Amino acid sequence: MHIRTRFAPSPTGFIHLGNLRSALYPWAFARHNKGDFILRIEDTDLERSTQEAVDVIIEGMAWLGLDIDEGPIYQMQRIDRYREVVKQMLDAGLAYPCYMSEADLNQLRDLQMSNKEKPRYNGLWRPEPGKTLPAIPPDVTPVIRFKNPLGGSVIWEDAVKGRIEISNDELDDLVIARPDGTPTYNFCVVVDDLDMKITHVIRGDDHVNNTPRQINIMKALGGVPPIYAHLPTVLNDAGEKMSKRNGAMSVRDYQKAGYLPEAILNYLARLGWSHGDAELFTKEQFVDWFDLESLGRSPAQHNPEKLLWLNHQYIQNTEPTKLAELTKPFAHQIGIDTEHGPDFVQVVGLLKDRANTLIEIAEGAKLFYLPAPAHSSEDLAKNIPPTAIPAIQDLIEFLKESDPNKEAYSAAFKQVLAKHQLKMPALAMPVRYALFATTQTPAIDSVLVVLGKEEAIKRLSNVIQ
Ligand code: GLU
Repeated sequence: MHIRTRFAPSPTGFIHLGNLRSALYPWAFARHNKGDFILRIEDTDLERSTQEAVDVIIEGMAWLGLDIDEGPIYQMQRIDRYREVVKQMLDAGLAYPCYMSEADLNQLRDLQMSNKEKPRYNGLWRPEPGKTLPAIPPDVTPVIRFKNPLGGSVIWEDAVKGRIEISNDELDDLVIARPDGTPTYNFCVVVDDLDMKITHVIRGDDHVNNTPRQINIMKALGGVPPIYAHLPTVLNDAGEKMSKRNGAMSVRDYQKAGYLPEAILNYLARLGWSHGDAELFTKEQFVDWFDLESLGRSPAQHNPEKLLWLNHQYIQNTEPTKLAELTKPFAHQIGIDTEHGPDFVQVVGLLKDRANTLIEIAEGAKLFYLPAPAHSSEDLAKNIPPTAIPAIQDLIEFLKESDPNKEAYSAAFKQVLAKHQLKMPALAMPVRYALFATTQTPAIDSVLVVLGKEEAIKRLSNVIQ
């Protein structure tokens, strides 16, 4: 079988990270099986669909590297096709016009509710052999309803939830086209899944209730239903359904916050799927390992700390040259001119092991691009004790003779400390303060390498005059 999967988002409202998990799994399944992955934009809800949401989806997928074989296909551009199928179904007697007015439908529903029955259409306009239909009212434009099978049940083997059986008595005759002829949601999905030859529908379990209706229409059209895999919801860290109101972020937000796409992909992959106890894996490994059997059955919970931890792992494992390129836009944003001053790749290399995000690297880098501090004599008196002055003087001399590397600078420090009978902090702190007007810096020998010997000597000399 040639596997074909799709991601079929509705571009309505806010698209958060959890939404894109529904893209990741069908993508991985298609890639694992050398099949096709299709992006279909379900934009028939004109009032709620926005271009902004479409952009977030497409950009987010591109950023994560979820490449598409076909699409984006917009449902709004397929309206003629849906109308054509509605007509075919009417001609074949698989669907029929229903002239029940809104008012009558409401009345029927109220009656059923007061009898404690489930509200459902009563089949009044459903043609049956030997049945006489009511006279067509002059002022009602009909909806078109699907003739749902009577009796029996719909059964499917869900790849996540197992066997599901729904009695046809539960399902009434679904409206497939509105009075103005526009097709309805469940109907479009069926036509598309058939036309696009989708073999596996992997989607959120909020669609489980739609599945029996979709299967019935599909079978009526002579199609073979795909395999369904309904994914449990993603909950936020407080255990609620994820939404913008309770702090969910879009992929774009994560990009802006300095996350790496590889970390997000790794994180999303584990949000409802596992491979033994593997936590850290490449995209290739994920594709290689992905199968529907290992999808989780219970809701996955978003864990921001774990995502941050993963991001840290990816930052740590990225080459400084590449990481520097990725960090530059963040550095420029906070006013760092990476083209002047210390070598940015070296700065990034120094900071990467302790950073969780690219923003943290950029923030840490700032120190090296600020102008030499102009210390007031008061500040100096407070931060550089008189005992440190002769030690700094000697340090300058040692540095002048040192090779420009970490080991040599470290040796210079040791010699000065020994000579002046000082402990490391008693020298390192004043030196840091002299160089940057702060004592919060990475290891002093590495800092000297990055700042450069000449610049360091200049700054140190300033504080001992
Ligand atoms: N458009 C639906 C949604 O965004 C998904 C439909 C489907 O996957 O079948 O929830």
